[in-house]
Amino acid sequence: MTDCIFCKIINKEIPADIVFEDENVLAFMDIKPVSKGHLLVIAKTHTADFLSAEDSVIASSMPMVKKIGQALMKTVNAQGMNITSNIGAASGQSVFHLHFHLIPRFDKDGLQSWPHQDSEPKTRTEIAERIKKELK
Ligand code: 5GP
Ligand code: ZN
Repeated sequence: MTDCIFCKIINKEIPADIVFEDENVLAFMDIKPVSKGHLLVIAKTHTADFLSAEDSVIASSMPMVKKIGQALMKTVNAQGMNITSNIGAASGQSVFHLHFHLIPRFDKDGLQSWPHQDSEPKTRTEIAERIKKELK
């Protein structure tokens, strides 16, 4: 896609600190890292997000997310990692080209997790039943 910033990085039209590339994925440093070593792994096929991607794109991306994640853990000596893929503006997605954030985590790094809320058992069961129907 011509106006997609990640397609431009794939096509080497704009620079990035690339750490890995094969026929399916490209991995490079996030320009505004959440933590030291924050990497993005992107699919080479332009697809808006994880949920709208072809299964073949997911299947070829995930093993590389794992392999690159393992290398990143070792390189920055992380104690943990968040691997996320935002879907839609409501989730915070700002680049609408499938990508995975690999965010190294360190003991007492001060980053806050999502706040959890209490929920009613009835509400949880109702939603669970609706999802089960949707999956049939
Ligand atoms: P999103 O918010 O869509 O989940 O994640 C997009 C990520 O891409 C952000 O973390 C942002 O810092 C990163 N990003 C946006 N533009 C560029 C760019 O031109 N180069 C690099 N290396 N990262 C970018
Ligand atoms: Zn793109």
